[in-house]
Amino acid sequence: PARHPDSRLGRVIAVQGLMCLVEDDQGNSYRCVVRRLLKRLATDQRHVVVTGDKVYFYPLPENPSEGVIETVLPRRGSISRESKGKQHVIVSNVDQVLIVSSAAMPRIKPHLIDRMIVAAEKSGVEPVICINKVDLVDRADLMPLVGLYSQLGYRVLLVSALSGFGLSALIRTLKDRVSVLAGQSGVGKSSLLNALDPDLKIPTAPVSEDTEKGRHTTTTARLYRFRFGGYVADTPGIRQFQLWDVEPEEVVNYFRDLRPYVNRCKFPNCLHIQESDCGVKDAVADGWIDERRYESYCHLVLDEEVELEEE
Ligand code: GDP
Ligand code: ZN
Repeated sequence: PARHPDSRLGRVIAVQGLMCLVEDDQGNSYRCVVRRLLKRLATDQRHVVVTGDKVYFYPLPENPSEGVIETVLPRRGSISRESKGKQHVIVSNVDQVLIVSSAAMPRIKPHLIDRMIVAAEKSGVEPVICINKVDLVDRADLMPLVGLYSQLGYRVLLVSALSGFGLSALIRTLKDRVSVLAGQSGVGKSSLLNALDPDLKIPTAPVSEDTEKGRHTTTTARLYRFRFGGYVADTPGIRQFQLWDVEPEEVVNYFRDLRPYVNRCKFPNCLHIQESDCGVKDAVADGWIDERRYESYCHLVLDEEVELEEE
């Protein structure tokens, strides 16, 4: 169908029931409804529009702060959550997941970083490793870990919300992109956001996830605009960014250091754990693959929970 003459590009920054909050590139916001035709075309009524969607919408002439969403552009890099055995998109068009961990208090947990890298790769979102609280340690001690991930092609940022170290590099990373900050509680995600932009105003006491489920509402995220440009997506649950529904056979696809060796395995369905004549295990034995990374891989395939609790 032909587009409305006043139609323009916007981004959905929040979904509230049947209404969507849409922002244009100037940062003006519009309360929008979804065009009925669009709803009829969608198979899953609840997910016609989700937070993060890029849309064409037109403001209503009688009330320019309100509008109608005409089209949703194709999504990429969506972060989903499983609920009642179904996948629900909670935010779309995410450019990167900042995997936030802390150099100390709580101590750094590389297995957790690996797990979140897998979750990001599976979602089609670029992982960026962000190690906070470097004021508490000697940064030289972090270099082996930084080296390992850098060699794999991941970006690693060392930062301190407290001292301000690395924050300008972090701003350059976040600027004009849509990001999610993930990581266990206590690593300093709120502190970082607050240090980057005290005006973000992300509510600190969100509705508990159980309550949300109880109300049968779709929990989508909300985008918060940084004063330097770009958005952070946040919602109850998104910071935990859990891996779900990953089949043992597919895990290796998300370990870019293991993947090159799988064609040397004798068995085509090799899981690279118990099998003989395994190219991956040979590569570990010969030192081509980092042992700790391989351990992470095994944990994930065997579905063993890595230690998530605070010490
Ligand atoms: P979140 O649960 O990931 O949002 O973590 P918070 O932002 O609530 O931070 C947890 C604790 O770590 C708080 O007591 C912060 O003051 C502290 N913290 C955060 N960032 C830093 C940092 O860079 N250095 C130090 N030493 N402490 C920090
Ligand atoms: Zn193998």
